[in-house]
Amino acid sequence: MDSKKILEIVKKWNINYTPEFRGFRCAKCQKKMHKAWHIWLNEGGYKIEVHFCRKCGKDIGLK
Ligand SMILES: [Zn+2]
Repeated sequence: MDSKKILEIVKKWNINYTPEFRGFRCAKCQKKMHKAWHIWLNEGGYKIEVHFCRKCGKDIGLK
């Protein structure tokens, strides 16, 4: 798992500052999910939980 790669994905987010009540969305492809990979990112000033679908998880080295 490459945290620099995850950081690059997070930096591309188009942030909506309005609070939302919803399920998970993949950090990369934005697919909506009930179950997701949960990854802690503590890099480049970010300390957040990031979610990935199975396909995008594979792309960053998760199995
Ligand atoms: Zn995805």
